[in-house]
Parts: sequence; structure tokens; C-alpha cells
Amino acid sequence: MKTGQQYLDSLRDGRFSFFDGRRVDDVMAEPIIERSAREIAATYDRYYSPEPGAVNPLMLPSKSVEELRQSTDERNRADLLTSITFQTLQGLKTTSTRMPPALQEYRERIDAFTSLALIDDLRMTECITDAKGNRSQHPAQQQDPDSYVHVADRQQSGIVITGAKLHITGASLCHTLMVMPTKAMKPNEGEYAVACAVDANAPGVHIVNVTPVPRVDDDRHFPVSRRGRIPTCLVVFDNVFVPYERVFLDGQTEYATVFAHTLGLWTRLGSTLGMAEEIDLLVGLAQLIAEANGTARVPHIKEKIAEMIITATLVRAGAEAAVLHAEVLSDGSVIPNELYTNAAKYHGAANYNLMLRHLHDIAGGSVITSPSMADFDNAELHDYLEKYWSTGSEVGGEYRLRLFHAIRDLTADTYGGWQMVTHLHGGGGLFAQQLVSTKHYDMGHARELALRSAGLME
Ligand SMILES: Cc1cc2nc3c(=O)[nH]c(=O)nc-3n(C[C@H](O)[C@H](O)[C@H](O)COP(=O)(O)OP(=O)(O)OC[C@H]3O[C@@H](n4cnc5c(N)ncnc54)[C@H](O)[C@@H]3O)c2cc1C
Repeated sequence: MKTGQQYLDSLRDGRFSFFDGRRVDDVMAEPIIERSAREIAATYDRYYSPEPGAVNPLMLPSKSVEELRQSTDERNRADLLTSITFQTLQGLKTTSTRMPPALQEYRERIDAFTSLALIDDLRMTECITDAKGNRSQHPAQQQDPDSYVHVADRQQSGIVITGAKLHITGASLCHTLMVMPTKAMKPNEGEYAVACAVDANAPGVHIVNVTPVPRVDDDRHFPVSRRGRIPTCLVVFDNVFVPYERVFLDGQTEYATVFAHTLGLWTRLGSTLGMAEEIDLLVGLAQLIAEANGTARVPHIKEKIAEMIITATLVRAGAEAAVLHAEVLSDGSVIPNELYTNAAKYHGAANYNLMLRHLHDIAGGSVITSPSMADFDNAELHDYLEKYWSTGSEVGGEYRLRLFHAIRDLTADTYGGWQMVTHLHGGGGLFAQQLVSTKHYDMGHARELALRSAGLME
């Protein structure tokens, strides 16, 4: 296993990573990215064992519903890249069990790779979303063949891939980029049906970091967004060589979606749990600011908070049901329930804007117009701010000011906008969850009930 320091050292591997227009040779020299790297390093240290052959327990599959519940809670408390690595490893293992005997070679490569990744304590991320060009056209119809990652050349010992993956979480801080098709491919699109594991420092890989973390250095003004947020990245593959032992699909179009679908389930469970926590946080902020404003007993405010509570509870209930109704696979491992995972993710994402509307309505305009904490520190302003932000002897000005900054930072500033879009699109947009929910819903039961109620069935 790796210690936190060994992980940090391993990132100095010559990778082509960029941030705000600069090449990042050393992540530790970029304070914003360094914060995220240190958060990941802290998880390494927390689970480190010097025993030979030891592996991180967070990466192991659950063998029962109770184990799944416990490990899911524990992973949720770890950094995001660790969770994504687990999702990728489990997704790959499940994919391997779903491949037919004819693709035995891929199964063996996946098993060998996942075992090695566990022992080497690697961090990896899922590279699914392609640039996609014109959305109404299939990969083979695009003007630019690179709109979807594809095999550009085949050599004796491996393939060469070209294209780009967008919005990739933590690509600049991981060791392995797990590339897979973003959607179903037609029979003539064999070169786009490619899944493979690529080293983050492989020649031809360019990674561009994007983050909503504010460049202003005041944790009180940005109490939420300055915590180690892992960057989301553009990853360009410009003629990248991948040896065959790291190629897990090459040309079998009928299996193009199996990777993304299997991995997507874990991603959506993670997103739903994250959203359940965040919606509880919104409820807490609504309650605190209502109390601080003196409106906590006003009927319309209580009604709005009640509506927020119901949404928070239903999202959490959906995530709980996804774990409690988990499916046991042929190898004894347990995966979350598809219907509950997707329906809960959809419900949280679709109602997130309503949660924000209620919170902003309850809080008032000071969410966006409160003077900064630097103003509060200014000796000539301090007493005015303390006086006019206070709402009585029990609610000090600083207390209320800091609540407003937390609400702004979480919901109404750069990071707030980022989160709104992330809840909609992270793990696939609303349509993706509608599709999967419809596929797994028991329509036969619903039809039978309807026929009976209409007297059309015995
Ligand atoms: C913060 C963040 C982190 C992410 N992390 C990752 C990651 O780690 N790995 C990864 O692979 N992806 C990641 N994603 C990508 C995410 O899964 C995508 O954003 C999502 O799938 C939508 O794709 P898109 O952004 O290209 O939008 P588009 O595909 O352009 O979708 C926009 C809208 O157009 C609709 N649409 C598009 N094409 C069609 C069509 N042919 N027919 C009908 N409707 C269509 C969609 O349903 C949607 O409503 C992340 C996204 C975000 C925001």
C-alpha cells in the first residue's frame, strides 16, 4: 500500500497537466490543486498498512447488505477520488462477470488489472463522457472522427487511441484513466467500442483542470468551496498507445454500453448519497437563517422548511432502499438496486432547484450582498457590521454574517452554480435516470392494477 507521501510523490511522474493556462509540473506548487491532493493523501494515511499484500479495505466488494451499508457510509466520508476508484474497480469486476465466455481474454485482463491496481493502491477515474460533437449524429456520422474516443491505429503490442473525454473528475490526481464508451455503438462503429486503462502520464495525454474553488484566500468568505474540491478535467488523448493487456474491449459493439452502465450504477448511488447529505445541509441552513432572522415561527416559512424536509427524507429513503434492496451477483458480491438508485438520483436532482428557491426565499437578499469578512475585520467598519447584521441580543452580527456567506458560497456563487449543474449532470443527466428507471420499473404490476381497476381483468 502507499502512504500519503508516497501518493503525493507518485504524482510527479511527468504528466501533462494544466491549470489556469499554466503547465503544472508539481501539484504541490499549485495551492488549489495541492489542497485536493492532500485530502486524497490523508485517506491513504488513514488506511495505510505496512503488512505485505495489504489492500485498502474501502476497495473491497461487500458480501452482504449490511456490509454494503457500512462500507458505503465509510466511503462517503473519504475523499471523492477514493470513492470513484472503488466504483471503477467494482464496476470493472461486475462487467467482467457479464462478459460471455467468448470474451474470456478481456475477462482475464480485467481481473489481472484490478488485482494489480488493488495491490499497487492506485487511484483511478472513469473516462466516459466524450466530446460528442453534434448530439443528433452517431459517432461514425460526425464530421470530426475524434468527437468520440476511438482506435486510430493497431500495432503489434497494443492500440493507439485518439479523442477527448470531458468533465472527468480527478483525472489530474489519479494514476489510471479508465476509458470506456459513452453510449451504444452501431455495428459499423467498431473502432469506437473501446475500453482500456491508460496511465495518466502516458505520452499524448493532456489534462486540463477546471475547478470552482475561489482563488481568494479567505476560508470565512468561502467556508464551503475552499475545502479540497477535486478538479474536474478535460482529458485529451492524442495518439496514445495502450498495450493489449490494458485493453478490455476493442471492436465488440454489442458490449459498448456494458462498462458505462455497470459503473454508472455505483456513480449514481454515490451522487445520491452526496445529494442526500447536501439537501440535509440546505434544510439546516434554512432553519438556522430563519431563526437568526426571527422568522422561524412564521407560517409560510415553516411550510417551506417542511417541504424541504420531505424532499430531503425521500432522497435519503431512496438511497437507503437502493442499499437495502441490493442485488447479489453470481460471485457473491452485492450491488445497489438499479431502480431505487436511479429514481432517487432523479428525484434529488429534479428537486434541487426547488430546495434552493425555498432557502433563498427564506434567507433574503443578504445571501448575495453581505459585506465580506475582510470588511468585518476592518476597524472602521467592524462595529457597523456587527450592529446591522445582529437581530437581537441572542444573534450576533458575525454569526448571521457567516451564515449568509455559507449560503452564498454553497448555493449562489461560483461553487453554487457548479453544484446546481453537477447535481443535474453528474452521473448522467435526468434523461439517463428516466431511461434506467423505466427499464427496471415493474410495469407489469402497474398494468395489472390498472386493468383490474377498470374491470378489464378477472
Ligand atoms: C461536475 C461533473 C463531474 C462529472 N464527472 C464525470 C466523470 O468523472 N466521468 C465522466 O465520464 N463524466 C463525468 N461527468 C459528465 C456527465 O456524466 C455528463 O455531463 C452528462 O452525461 C451529460 O453529458 P454532456 O455534459 O455532454 O451533455 P449533453 O450530452 O450535451 O446533454 C445535454 C442535454 O441534451 C440531451 N441530449 C444529448 N444528446 C441527446 C440525444 N442524442 N438525444 C436526446 N437528447 C440528447 C441530454 O439528455 C441533456 O438533456 C461529470 C459532469 C459534471 C457536471
